[in-house]
Amino acid sequence: MGTRVLVVEDEPVINQAVAERLVAEGFDVRQAYDGPTAVDVAETWEPDALVLDVMLPGFDGHEVCRRVQARRPVPVLMLTARDDETDVLVGLGVGADDYLTKPFSMRELVARVRVLLRRVERAAELFRGETGDLRVGDLHIDRSGRRVRVAASDVHLTPTEFDLLARLAAEPGTVLSREDLMRDVWGWSDPAAARTGTRTVDSHVRSLRAKIGAGRVRTVHGVGYALEHAPGETSPR
Ligand code: CA
Repeated sequence: MGTRVLVVEDEPVINQAVAERLVAEGFDVRQAYDGPTAVDVAETWEPDALVLDVMLPGFDGHEVCRRVQARRPVPVLMLTARDDETDVLVGLGVGADDYLTKPFSMRELVARVRVLLRRVERAAELFRGETGDLRVGDLHIDRSGRRVRVAASDVHLTPTEFDLLARLAAEPGTVLSREDLMRDVWGWSDPAAARTGTRTVDSHVRSLRAKIGAGRVRTVHGVGYALEHAPGETSPR
């Protein structure tokens, strides 16, 4: 049985082209053309990844993302009509792991889907045997349950945000470069390729900050990011 990818796109020509290419690449594919059907199929079929258009009938891709992610973490590649920063950030904020702006090449789409899946595998590898909880100030990361609490309140993170936070929290106060994060969290091993993905790192750091508090992740310009103890917080136990 191949890796399952659910393609959600209301334009039949694009949907069919994406589905056919993914099938040709060895993926097990199902197709949905509207929001409600996408959520139903995701629930019953349990895909390993979603390729998800933003503008859909019923309800849009953001809402599909929200509903699917609420049940089960699954990596999402969002298809956007405009290369608009706000669109991108909103997409990431509701749980998309990556985005692709139309028009895109099928080769690029397949590469992005593979990166998403590799990232999930890589994260499992990265944290294998490291299932203990991490505490940084009032931030509590349950690595085996993949849950995060800030000051005893649950925070819902996407799979990518979780892995990014867990990586930063493994060495609090240490500055990790974008290339380090691309390698450890996304599984990009080629440094030249990793450099092209740095905007993805920046977008995920922004969405992570919005959820856990902007001051917790320090930017070191030209270098990378570090997770800080929240100001005024007590030391970790
Ligand atoms: Ca559409």
